[in-house]
Amino acid sequence: MERTLCIIKPDAVRKKVQGHIIQKILDAGFQILGMKMRHLTEAQAKAFYSIHKEKPFYKDLVEFMTSGPVVTIALQKENAIADYRKLIGATDPAKADEGTVRKLYANNVQENAVHGSDSIENGKIEVGFFFSEAELAG
Ligand code: ADP
Ligand code: MG
Repeated sequence: MERTLCIIKPDAVRKKVQGHIIQKILDAGFQILGMKMRHLTEAQAKAFYSIHKEKPFYKDLVEFMTSGPVVTIALQKENAIADYRKLIGATDPAKADEGTVRKLYANNVQENAVHGSDSIENGKIEVGFFFSEAELAG
């Protein structure tokens, strides 16, 4: 079983589409192990996205991710990393396949509705960034 971290980003929370996104995730066969709404601090957003700290979009990304509450969700499934990336679609919603979460709900390449882990290793690390083992059920 693989784990992946979903973050429903501030743009999607502002649009009140959290319920639709969570239902799509459940319909795709993912198990929700933990779920919590949070308003990320600047330090949390900087640390979470530290892999991108040299990128030109880093500062704006941190500002966006702290602009309102998010929903953090720890997910588990066989092949979770690849299956979840397929479900959410490309980073840029203009390039995302029809029916994907980002095609349906993203505004643009920055405000793209959801986060997903990019590897098995990072899935474990990112779930651990927001949840202790004791907080995860199932
Ligand atoms: P993904 O979230 O699909 O794994 P990345 O890890 O490359 O994408 O980027 C992390 C996040 O940074 C994206 O989800 C998006 O919010 C933002 N981002 C990525 N590329 C750009 C860009 N070219 N311009 C603005 N924001 C971007
Ligand atoms: Mg990424």
